[in-house]
Amino acid sequence: MNSEELLHSISDVTDDTEFYTPMPPGYIRGQCRYVVITGTVISGLGKGIFSSSLAKLLQDKGLRVAPIKLEGYLNIDSGTLNPFRHGEVFVLDDGMECDMDLGTYERLLDLNLSRANFTTSGQIYTRVLEKERHGDYLGRDVQMIPHVTGEVKLRLRELAVASQADVVFVEIGGTVGDVENTYYIEAMRELAYEEGPHAVCFVALTYVLEPRALGEQKSKAAQLGIKRLMELGVQPHIVACRASNPVSTKVRQKIAQYTNVPIERVFSMHDCESIYVVPSMLREAGYDFEVIKLLDLGERINLLKERTCWLEWCDFVDRLDALEHDVTIGITGKYTSVRDSYASIIHALEHSGAHLAANVSIRWIDTTDLTDKTVADALAGVHGMIVPGGFGVRGSEGKIACIRHARENRLPFLGICFGFQMAVIEFARHVCGLQGANSSEIAPDCPHRVIDILPEQKKIEGLGGNMRLGGKQVELTPQTMAWRLFGGRSDVHMRFRHRYEVDPKYIDTFTEHGLVFSGKAPGQPIMQILELPDHPCFIATQAHPCMTSRPLRPQPMFLALVAAARQRACPDKDLGDCVSATEQVLKQTRPVDMPREKRNAKRRREKAPNHF
Ligand code: GLN
Repeated sequence: MNSEELLHSISDVTDDTEFYTPMPPGYIRGQCRYVVITGTVISGLGKGIFSSSLAKLLQDKGLRVAPIKLEGYLNIDSGTLNPFRHGEVFVLDDGMECDMDLGTYERLLDLNLSRANFTTSGQIYTRVLEKERHGDYLGRDVQMIPHVTGEVKLRLRELAVASQADVVFVEIGGTVGDVENTYYIEAMRELAYEEGPHAVCFVALTYVLEPRALGEQKSKAAQLGIKRLMELGVQPHIVACRASNPVSTKVRQKIAQYTNVPIERVFSMHDCESIYVVPSMLREAGYDFEVIKLLDLGERINLLKERTCWLEWCDFVDRLDALEHDVTIGITGKYTSVRDSYASIIHALEHSGAHLAANVSIRWIDTTDLTDKTVADALAGVHGMIVPGGFGVRGSEGKIACIRHARENRLPFLGICFGFQMAVIEFARHVCGLQGANSSEIAPDCPHRVIDILPEQKKIEGLGGNMRLGGKQVELTPQTMAWRLFGGRSDVHMRFRHRYEVDPKYIDTFTEHGLVFSGKAPGQPIMQILELPDHPCFIATQAHPCMTSRPLRPQPMFLALVAAARQRACPDKDLGDCVSATEQVLKQTRPVDMPREKRNAKRRREKAPNHF
């Protein structure tokens, strides 16, 4: 039997082979290429940023890319993870709750990802155990190799078929030393063997230490980390050296020598001021063409397309260096010590800042002990305020005090999810006179539960899996601020992650007192956007608009907040009201909050390819 026949035979599940390599229907071996990124030495080096920047460079060249993150933990998704320890829970359009790295991929690749782009050991083992119960393994003892590794390869190949990708980017969580990730690396080793030459490119992301006491860079830890990968049977093709400063040729030479990687493929990837500079850094170093050579993709690339995409990208990056107006945005929150908990909000502010020439600084406001008396001091010098998503009672009264201050003092305000709910409670108490109004999440026995559990969720018991999750349509009321911000479109698509909502029986009271619900779920009494007329910018949404903001397509509600804050920061200048400033930016960018499929349809309809 030659190797071709051998590989063909292992894709069948039979009882006369030791292998288990199921292939999804329609899969053509060798057609899709894979870039596998592993971490060595330490985690938290920005593997996701590296991987998405590299993927972007290939995407710009006309290649279809699909990322996937393989997490070692046993949780099925990230929904129950504490953002304090793991960073924000990012929600995909199909409702998958996942790692914040998926947000990085969506932002850099401007793609809407799905559950096919994220897996955990919990998901892999569940599938294996379900198959075992179903008798799919034909009486075999079920083992880590080949069954669990076979399942991992199946996930990747399924993604390749579903996405029709030229290149699948596989990011393995953690570092090579982790017990829970070892089987992923074994699966990648098997994949490389099975797919044949030029099909899989391994990138080892490592760390070059520079102890202050020595004052020079040391390569040993990096060498040992990569050796660990090689012990698992994987020879990297590319080594990316993370470091504080540019990695010296001497250190690169040493790493090259001890890891069998040519020095041209041992790159420095030192710290830089913004993640949006990473693609240029990789491009200048030549990573993209090394990958294209290694994967033999030269014939599939389109350099003309790259020129347009690259100019557009450089235009955005240049804007980050030309920020004229200093603006301070206050963000209230419980997890104020961990910036990762609010990663999407920070990025959304950066995107809007770039397009409005605003240099946005963030002031974190701990609301735990804030009251109506202390709030003015806490918000002094802040030009705009965000009350972001959150859970539970701690700090909620302080958030309500902040919103009251913003409403009464014309301070630009954007409320996100929990922030929307707090705005409703504030309005109920102080404008409608509904004393003691609250949310049943915070005070189940309060006299007016203006925010209550969703009727559709009431039926589902337990904490896991009973949220309203993912992308949903929002119907906008014509002529409202929200409607104008979204370019006069009557329906937009936004991402949700909540359990509570406005109790419909109070809607009339709120509206009579001047609150405008400008966005609703089509055909249901679910309030999704609120705004206050006669205020420079007072808008809140039950959705998470930060999750759909992209560098080249800033999210309109964030644009409005930053524009209003910019005007407040520069009272001597006439920079326009927040809606016109937003409209101005949107004329030059592309619509957000519209899934890619719809955008494509719109593009075909309008026959204006250059505009989108
Ligand atoms: N705790 C609120 C709810 O469950 C808000 C959730 C959030 O902000 N993501 O509805």
